[in-house]
Parts: sequence; C-alpha cells; structure tokens
Amino acid sequence: MSGKIPRQFIDDLLLRVDLVDLIDSHVPLKKSGANYTARCPFHNEKSPSFSVSRERQLYHCFGCGASGDAISFLMTFNHLEFVEAVEDLAMFAGMPLPREETFTPAAPKLDLSRGYQVLEAVASFYLEQLKGPEGQAARAYLLRRGVSEQIAGEFMLGYAPNRWEALLSRFERQALIDAGMLVVREDGKAYDRFRGRLMFPIRDKRSRVIGFGGRVLDDSQPKYLNSPETAVFSKGREVYGLAELLQRQARPPYILVVEGYMDVIALTQYGVTSAVATLGTATSKAHVDLLFRFTQELVLCFDGDRAGRQAAWRAVEAALPALRDGRRIRVMLLPQGQDPDSWVRELGAQAFEQQIAQAMLLSDYFFQYLSADLSLHGVEGRASLLALAKPQLEKIPVGFFRDLMFGRLRELTGKRLADKQSPARPPRMPQGARGGGKSPESNLLRKILSLLVLYPRLAKHAVNQDWLLTDIEPAGAAVLQSLLAMIAQRQPENSAVLLEYFRDTPHYNTLAALANLSWDAPAGGEEGEFRGALTQLARLLRERRMADLIEKVRSGMKLTPEELAEFRAGGKLGA
Ligand SMILES: [Zn+2]
Repeated sequence: MSGKIPRQFIDDLLLRVDLVDLIDSHVPLKKSGANYTARCPFHNEKSPSFSVSRERQLYHCFGCGASGDAISFLMTFNHLEFVEAVEDLAMFAGMPLPREETFTPAAPKLDLSRGYQVLEAVASFYLEQLKGPEGQAARAYLLRRGVSEQIAGEFMLGYAPNRWEALLSRFERQALIDAGMLVVREDGKAYDRFRGRLMFPIRDKRSRVIGFGGRVLDDSQPKYLNSPETAVFSKGREVYGLAELLQRQARPPYILVVEGYMDVIALTQYGVTSAVATLGTATSKAHVDLLFRFTQELVLCFDGDRAGRQAAWRAVEAALPALRDGRRIRVMLLPQGQDPDSWVRELGAQAFEQQIAQAMLLSDYFFQYLSADLSLHGVEGRASLLALAKPQLEKIPVGFFRDLMFGRLRELTGKRLADKQSPARPPRMPQGARGGGKSPESNLLRKILSLLVLYPRLAKHAVNQDWLLTDIEPAGAAVLQSLLAMIAQRQPENSAVLLEYFRDTPHYNTLAALANLSWDAPAGGEEGEFRGALTQLARLLRERRMADLIEKVRSGMKLTPEELAEFRAGGKLGA
C-alpha cells in the first residue's frame, strides 16, 4: 500500500454505503419490523437470527454473536484484510480510494503503484513485439496451437524478444528490478529475465499486471518461467486467468482450477470459460480462499497419472480449512495422457462441461483416496483410516459439512468419535458488556454506554456532568471518556462510523458488544431512556457516597470540611 486510508474517507464511505444493500447483495434479506433479517451467513441455522439495522448500519447475529459494520461484514464474509475490505467497499460504493502519504524515513518505502505501472507498460511492449517482425515465431506457435487472435488479445499475450536488454534499454532499471523483470548478476550487471518467450501477463483480481509467465517456443528448458516473488506478486496467493474470468462473469457458478496457462487459454477458446491456473505451485488455502470470494464451487482438475493424483490430494488437504458451509469442492481427474488443453479439443465444450458436472465430490474423493490401499473389512484397515482421516477432518471449520464428514468416517470405521469442536459455541462476550449478575450501578452504566454507541447525538445530555467521569468505576469511566471525546470531536452520524473509529483500540470489543445490548429501539424513546438512566445513576452514586460518609462517622472518623459540606448538601437533595 502506498499510504494510509484517510479517516475522513472511511467515515464518508460508511455514510455512502447502505449496509442493507451491501448485505442483501450477498445474503438475501427480509424486512422484519424496523430491521432486516436472514439466516446467518456465519453459522448454520434453520430460522433467521441474523439482523441488520439500516438506522445503525450494523448487523448482529443472536445465534453466533457475529456483529459489525459494512467493513466487518466484508472482512468476515470474504476473508479480507481491513484495507482490502475498504477497497472492495469503495468499489461497491463507486468512490475512488484516496491515500494519505505516510512518511516513514526508517523503512524504504515501496512505491507499488509505480510497480504496477511498469508491469503494465512492459505487457504493452510485449504485445507490440508479438505483432512486430520479431514476433513471427511466436505467432506461428500460437497458430500451431490453434489459439485465435481474439483469445490472444483477451489474455494480452505478448512476446519477449530474444535480446538481453530489450526492456533494459527502454524502462528504468530499478523499477524493472523491483518488478522482477531483470536478472542481476553478482558483478551488478543486469539483463532481461525473459528472452525469446511467449509471454502471459498475470493479473490480480483487480486486473493489475503483477507478473508474467513465459513459455519457450522450442524444446529448450525451462519450458515455463515465471516472475519471481516481488512486492506485488506472490505465487501462493495468485492464480492465472482470474481477472479475465471475472471480466466475463462477475460471479461464475463454478471455477475450474487447472495447472497450465495454455490450459486456461484453450479452455476459454473452446467455450469452457471459467478456468484459472495455479502458477507452478501447489494449490494453497490462500488460492482456495481467493477463489471462493467469487464462486460457491471449485472444481480442481488434475492429470490422471500418479503425480496428478498426488497433487489433487495435496490440494484437497490445503482446501479443507477453507471449507465452511456453502462452499463446495469437486475433484476432476483427467484420463491418462490428457491435459485440459488436449482434452477440450478432443471432446468439445459441451462434453467437457459434462465431465465437470460429473466430477467427484470432495467427500467421495477424500474417503476413496484414503481407503484406496486399505481393507475396511478388517480392524486394522479401519483403524488406519481413522488415524489418517481424523486429523484431516479436524481442519474443517465447524458446521454441517464437518459433521457430515465425521458421520461418514463413523460409518466407515464403525467407531463413535468425539468431535470436540461441535456444536459451535458462540464467542464470549467481553467482560464489560456482559449482562446480569452485576450491581445496579454497572447495569445503568452499561445502558448509558450502549445508548451512546447506538445514538451518538445523546452525548449532549452527558456534557458538563463531571460526576460521570469521577464517581463511576475506573474501567467504565475510561470507556465513557474516550467515547464522549470521540463523539465531541468527530460527531459520528451513526453507530457504524462511531465503532469504526475504535477498531484496533482496546475499547473496540466492549463497544461493539454494547451496540448489541439493546438491538431493538428503547420502548420509551432513546432520549427519555438515556436521561432517565443518567438520573438514576446519579442518585445511586449519591446514595452510595452518603452511606460511605455515614459509615465513616459511625466508625469514629472525622469528616473533612469538604465532606461535611457534601454530606449536608446530599442529605438535603436526597430527602
Ligand atoms: Zn450467526
């Protein structure tokens, strides 16, 4: 990231976006009273306990305790980091994202936008070269492989000329080095990494070029060469063809994961348009998480030989922790000697898609693979299956799918298993916000704090009430003080803006839990509730203080003049 996102932008973004629209585009909502409800997307349930408030711009699940604002929703639903969620939300709202320049002299600042720019420019350069006189052999190769001009254009295929300094003579040296486009020798001399290769620009999900794959045109080695890991390119997290796929279809019904660039290109050309490829690395959980942001189903496609079956199993192992309910994975093993490129040419799109539809369910594949060499008629075989399967299944997130997989294991092994994780336990509420069993004072204080979070404008009734900050218990006073200071300073227009301000501070969990304390609007109106609670709390505190002073007198201690004055005033007021 080239800078911090300005606070004001986050405030504006949360005001521009309607949380109801945002969530409704992911999970269909139904109106129910003042709020909107759905079955919770974060845990399994039959009747809806997930509620969204338009007024507060917050959601809350009464079943599992999930709660938050638009940013939290995207972070949880799509497994995003904070900044990614803000970026996606900005895209949803159609607001361009500004950056605050942060100056940190200690750490060298990587200018990522410059990295993206140079890679985009290099991709254009390669594209020109493919069309020019030096690209003749590459064009002939594409023709031989039956790649149409249209598809080559869609994937922006290019050609890296067979020269040592084709890039070096055109672009800035350091920018090329940062982007991984040069090889720097020990003596400091540098030369172009890709020479005489057909070039495949690799784009991230936002369509920015982040690296390249290059294929030789003859039989020399290595056949494929990829960009090295750079600040913008990580093979374990990115896949080839996703940006192009998303341009054709924002939410494909499934995504087919294959192993080669040419497979993606051939499949697309033949009409199987939802394929992506891993970048010469094993399928990782990060890959799986990335792809599940855009679809509900992944089909992992591997060669049918021994190496392919092993790769498929490793992919399944990596994917298990990502398999929360609603996500499906199937495994497709190709006939011996075929790759997706050759097979789609042989079968055609329709028959190929039929094969995809018939691909094995992950649950079937899992048990079939593990029990392939075991005899489940014997105790030993069943014990082995149990030992192999149980640690794997324990990686699956809590939910129906996990329960069903354990059920299947029980059937196969005839053993009752205790799965310690199920059923799901709701997350613990932070201390300060838990209800019940507390003194009347802390109950009132919680009510006051909760109303302030839900209706920030009520803060005006709490100004100049110094007793609030001096007489209540210190932990509550600290929360109240920072809450009032924030409201005075930022005047947040709703609870979402308010809570967002506290993210990453020690008070966040407490305040977020307070927001859920009274999910429905107070019966007597929030203003009356709030002032009533303040009055009650003031009276309780005064009574307690009087009792302390009386106790002091009883035990034979002398009151200071201030305490005496206080005692007289309190006595009168309390009468
Ligand atoms: Zn829930």
